[in-house]
Amino acid sequence: MNTNSSNIMALAPNTSNKRETVCIFGTGDFGRALGHKMIQSGYPVVYGSRSTQMSNLIPKDAEVLSHAEAAQKAAIIIIAIQRQHYHFLTPLAEILRGKVVVDISNNLKLNQYPESNAEYLAQLLPGAKVVKAFNTVSAWALQSGALDASRQVFVCGDDAEAKQMVMNIVRALGLTPLDQGSLLAAQEIENYPLQLFPMWKFPIFLSLGLTAFFFFYCLALDVIYTYIYEKNNFSFFIAFTIPNRICPVMALILLALVYLPGVLAAIIQLYRGTKYRRFPDWLDKWMLCRKQLGLIALAFASLHAVFSLASPMRAFVKWRTGKGIISQALNNRTEPLDTTNAWLSDSYLALGILGFFFFVLVGITSLPSVSNNVNWREFRFVQSKLGYLTLILCTAHTLVYGGKWFLSPSAYRWYLPNIYMLSLVVPCTVLVIKFVLVFPCVDKPLTQIRQGWERNPKYSE
Ligand code: NAP
Repeated sequence: MNTNSSNIMALAPNTSNKRETVCIFGTGDFGRALGHKMIQSGYPVVYGSRSTQMSNLIPKDAEVLSHAEAAQKAAIIIIAIQRQHYHFLTPLAEILRGKVVVDISNNLKLNQYPESNAEYLAQLLPGAKVVKAFNTVSAWALQSGALDASRQVFVCGDDAEAKQMVMNIVRALGLTPLDQGSLLAAQEIENYPLQLFPMWKFPIFLSLGLTAFFFFYCLALDVIYTYIYEKNNFSFFIAFTIPNRICPVMALILLALVYLPGVLAAIIQLYRGTKYRRFPDWLDKWMLCRKQLGLIALAFASLHAVFSLASPMRAFVKWRTGKGIISQALNNRTEPLDTTNAWLSDSYLALGILGFFFFVLVGITSLPSVSNNVNWREFRFVQSKLGYLTLILCTAHTLVYGGKWFLSPSAYRWYLPNIYMLSLVVPCTVLVIKFVLVFPCVDKPLTQIRQGWERNPKYSE
């Protein structure tokens, strides 16, 4: 119903230029910024304040009155005051009866109070039509006009007409109202500005942890080991070689971790014989942050591409190439072209370039501006089929590059495997399980389960 009415309003804009007076309680940062914006958009503004004296900071076209006087001049009252002061509104309950009262407040902590600020306001003013809005827009963004990051205004309330009036104001200010339903949604809307990249926490901590682990692993094997046993000072590896080892390894492992929860979920569904039982919490959370894991993986892959392109400029590489040429000249012989080596090097480069190309394609498709323009089947095709193709190409790139060391004893310094071998464990596991899952004898029951079939109905409670 709300959607329909909102569409009708959008199709039939108010042709009259006359805007209704809006009352704002509180002449603080937000109240002033919102008042400025409203006056610019043609709304007469009246402030309700503890002090009726005008100050330079208050928009000069606005009136400043006592709370009771100001409330009587408007049908919509915006409460730009912190929640802890709301009790001053109780004596105004009669004046605010039947009016639209907009709660814009935020808290300092998630779920700080048992009920949302908007619900608390509705309890204090039982006769008012309370609407929650504007809390995700900052005073700074309203003033500076830099609204791109916070153009969306979540609106909720129990009175559809009151909500519509507030949504019309939001639109008139050049913002986008998003109807979130009844006042019950207020708690979630109030928590929203307090969240700090909630979906990014696990991927970022995991990436930092793994990067630190691989850094010390490489430091031990490539710098400390060579210093102790070969008397070579390769400490400068810390600047370029080690980062360029860690980046592809991280990219590959994180990409595999994007697809690992999917295959684990398939195994769980096959084992349980139903899709109607919830996955364990850790798997649910892991699945929800796959996009973030994939984007971090893409960042590592991009860094690896840049590092690799810059590699020929390094003094160490120039010295090693020069040393090879001089040694051939001194021995008066030209090394014959090792075609096997040429094949391997061309293949791993080609696999890397193709893998990176598909990686970028999958990454771009996960961006909302692109994913909103493809249908579900197209999205699944890119994220699943092209995603697996990327994983296969990148795994093959690492295998062809690092494979030659796998059987060489010199690769096992301090009996530890080379970093490339470690990086292949998760991707190879994912690809082997996926390979088994696509076999018709496994794929058929899995498809049936995903279509609602149950092997053991006791799980369908
Ligand atoms: P503020 O600068 O501290 O201003 C609050 C105003 O409340 C004061 O200027 C004062 O206005 C009034 N007030 C203070 N104590 C009062 C009391 N005991 N009784 C009655 N009125 C009192 O706060 P703000 O930054 O404007 O924020 C106001 C509300 O907007 C808060 O709920 C906040 O969560 C929300 N909000 C702020 C932002 C932002 O970017 N600042 C963004 C989103 C939401 P008078 O002196 O005129 O009475």
